[in-house]
Parts: sequence; C-alpha cells; structure tokens
Amino acid sequence: MTVNPSGWRPSAPANEQGEAQTVTGNRALMLEEPLLFEIGKTDQTGVDFAEMPERSSRIGSLERSKPIDLAGLSEPEAVRHYTRLSRQNYAIDLGLFPLGSCTMKHNPRLNEKVARLPGFADVHPLQPQETVQGALQVINELAFWLLDLTGMHGVAMSPKAGAHGELCGLLCIRAALEARGDKREVVLVPESAHGTNPATAAFAGYRVENIPANAAGRVDLDALKARLGPDVAAVMITNPNTCGLFEPDMKAISDAVHAAGAFVYCDGANFNAIVGKVRPGDLGIDAMHINLHKTFSTPHGGGGPGSGPVVLSEALAPYGPLPFAAKYPDGSYKMVEEENAGDEHPNAFGRMVAFHGQTGMFTRALAYILSHGADGLKQVAEDAVLNANYVLRSLEDVLDAPFAESGPCMHEAIFSDKGFAGGLSTIDLAKALIDEGFHPMTMYFPLVVHGAMLIEPTETESKAGLDQFIAAVRAIAERAKAGDQSLKGAPVHAPRRRLDETLAARKPILTYREPEPAQAAE
Ligand SMILES: *Cc1c(COP(=O)(O)O)cnc(C)c1O
Repeated sequence: MTVNPSGWRPSAPANEQGEAQTVTGNRALMLEEPLLFEIGKTDQTGVDFAEMPERSSRIGSLERSKPIDLAGLSEPEAVRHYTRLSRQNYAIDLGLFPLGSCTMKHNPRLNEKVARLPGFADVHPLQPQETVQGALQVINELAFWLLDLTGMHGVAMSPKAGAHGELCGLLCIRAALEARGDKREVVLVPESAHGTNPATAAFAGYRVENIPANAAGRVDLDALKARLGPDVAAVMITNPNTCGLFEPDMKAISDAVHAAGAFVYCDGANFNAIVGKVRPGDLGIDAMHINLHKTFSTPHGGGGPGSGPVVLSEALAPYGPLPFAAKYPDGSYKMVEEENAGDEHPNAFGRMVAFHGQTGMFTRALAYILSHGADGLKQVAEDAVLNANYVLRSLEDVLDAPFAESGPCMHEAIFSDKGFAGGLSTIDLAKALIDEGFHPMTMYFPLVVHGAMLIEPTETESKAGLDQFIAAVRAIAERAKAGDQSLKGAPVHAPRRRLDETLAARKPILTYREPEPAQAAE
C-alpha cells in the first residue's frame, strides 16, 4: 500500500449508511494515518546532509554493522504524527476521568512550573551532593510532611510506584521477622484487594491466602482472627478499601495481627480520602505506601513516572532501605548510602533503586502539599468524599449500588450492572460513555462485585461537571435497563468503534490497516 503522511486513499466511497467519506479518510480535524515506520522511509532523513567524505573509522568493532531502520522524517512530520495520535486519546486536561482506584485528578500547573525550575529539572543523580543541596532538601522536607500526615516513624522515599512501595514494605517486614529468627510464609490479602497486593506478596516469596469480605464490603474480622497464626507474616489491607469503604475495624484488625506476631501492611493508594483526617500510625499500621502520583496529584495515567514512598512504624523503620536524604546539624543535606550508613542505619534491608527516587515527583508533591497547607489537604479529603457521595446518591436510583445501604462511601462509589436487560452489561454502559465525551469508569473491579463499575470523581471536579457526567450515566443506564441493543455498538462517534481488546492484546497487529467500513468512525 502506498500512502502519504495523512493516509490519502484514492477512492472515497460512501460507508454502509450511505454517508459520504472523505478522500483522505480524515474526518474534519481527526486525521487518519499509518504508523511512523510506514510513513517514513529508512533510506531518507528529514535533514539534508552533504555526502560524507571517505574516512577511516576510529571506533573499530563498535561501528554500526547494519542499518538501524529508523523512519526518516522531518521534525514537523514527526511532531504532527504524535500530536495527531494524542488527539485520539483522552486526557485529564480534556475532561472528567472517573477511573476508580486511580485518583485521576487535575494537576495544578504550579506543580509543573516548580518541577521545571532548572535547579530541579536539570540535576543529575551523580552530581556532587554539595551542588544539589536544594533537591536533597526537597526530598527531606517531603519526607517530614509524609511522616507528619501519617503519624509514622520512618519513610523510604525511593520506591518508584505504589506496587514498588508494597514490595519495599514487605521486604522491611521480612527483614524484621528474620532479625528475630521468625520464618513466616503466609501473607493474608482481602478479596477486594488491588491485584498488585497478592502479586507483590508472591513476588516477595510469600504464599498468598484470601480473607473474605462481609456483606457490608468490609474485611470479615472473625474470619481474619480465625486464620491468624504463627505462619502469618503480614496482612495487607487497603483502607479505604477498593469498594470505596472505610474499614472501621482497622484498629481491632491491627491489634489482632500484632497479637499474633504479624505485621500490618496498608495499601495507601486511597490516602486522598483520609489525608488530614486520619493518621494511619494511629490505626496500628506498620507499613503503608503513598502513591504521590494519586494523592498529591502528580501526573500519571499515560505511563508517566510514579512515586511510592513507604511510611514505616517504629518496629519496621530500622529495616527501611537505603539511600535517604538526611539533614545534618550544620544545616547541610547528605544522602545516607551503604558507605556512610554506619551506626545510624545498620539494619537496612538493601536498596530499591539505583539512585534516590523520582525527584520530579517529589518536587511536584511538595509543591502540592505546601500550596494546600494543612487545612487545604483536609479539604482535599472532604471534597473527594463529598463528590463521590454526590455521584452515589445521584445514581443509586438508576444503577444497582451494592453497599449504598451501609452508609456513605469514601472517595469512590461502586455500582453494578444488576438490572440491565437484553444481555447488556457494564462494558456496554462504559463504551457508551465514550460517545458522550467521558472516559469510562473502572470496570469489573473490584472482583467482589459482579459487573462492578467503580467511579472516583476526585475533589477537583465542579458540581456542574459532575452533573453533566451524572446526566450521561443516567441516560445510558436507562437505555441499558430497557435492553437497548444499540448500546452493543458503542462507541459510534469515537475514532474507532468497539475493539476486540482480548484479540488486540493476544494477537496484536503492528502495522496500519485501513479501518473496516463497520469500524470506521461514524
Ligand atoms: C494504583 C493502586 C496500586 C498500585 O500503584 P502503582 O503506583 O500503580 O504501582 C495499588 N493499590 C491500589 C488500591 C491502587 O489504587
């Protein structure tokens, strides 16, 4: 197939519905085009170089022996290609992103401005430490804020995401158990847990066992107590949990776990619902990761960097990993590493990363914390919870809301597709939301609710924005309950129609193909 950069096609037939097609395949400002490697030729470049004179190579065997096959494009061609692709995507800067569990909130531009200051953006981890005192101070100050907000004893700043933080916490727990000569093999995880929890426990070498939920969507305390014993190393609990519910028995859970000689790991990904309101340290938690990129707003969701510092109780803090940024009495900052940990931190289990963690994320999180202040952070939690309850109460008459009876939710509201007719299910409602200009909610998670729809509006949405979203969901839910089969074709207005996501994942087609008529955007 020969194509030009915008996917020109020689004929312009009408589609199945008899609507005129464009010659280019483009639809107004939404452009169709093949992949970069199909547009660009490997034997040309976007820049005209003069012929190379004959020369003898001085790099010997390191000289390239075969072509690198990069597509040769000019800068505008490459920039436009990626900009066009990005326009087919949805982003937090375009609209509400109701993905439950993900906390997709607005990222204040102030954070970005601060993170781009050359003193933060242009530093290198191997630079002499006396030249990056400001960056080390940011790590140290953020660490103190996190300790203050959580009421914990120590914090490991270096883990690079929530899941990485989970691993760090479990490695601390293992080191603490080994230090007392206690070999325990089992980690208990509630059924509603995020998939990373059992995956982390297994990765850390533990056997994972589930703890059941009770009818109110909380951990079944009696079942947990019955299972605790000398083989249990830790319990991993998410609070607020992934049904958007607070675990009111948290202190009783911690007490029981400690009495059995085990540790409490808390998945703190949902900390935005309780920040400034509850200190995990007061609930008896031993280790908890904080997703800076969720609670403290730093951008994520498009594969951008994350950061998952882990706060640690007094019992676990001695085992936390190296390095960390310490402040010395003369006011200077220094990384405590293997060579200078000495008497100060001799029991560290090791290190999680090559350098110090995600400086850009630290800077953004600290800017967010300082610009909100203590009162502002408390309001973050209150508004996140208020918005989620507004969604819950505005939709519970049209959508099944399994835990609505048991009181208010926290920062996310859970619904199910119970009551949909004509074989329609959660995915049909979610895909129809795309046509209405919204990113779908989290679907089929947590697993404890059949056909789950988990909606987290976050605190950065206005009432007017929520009302638009609620109106769209209400209208689609009514159609789903009436068995409207046209929902099965949704989305109809997106650049692509409904995709076979399983097939796409299992048998990806890595070249451009013109959309089938039925797949073309309407
Ligand atoms: C996001 C999330 C995680 C994993 O965090 P990452 O930063 O994506 O690794 C773990 N648990 C819960 C409940 C989450 O929402």
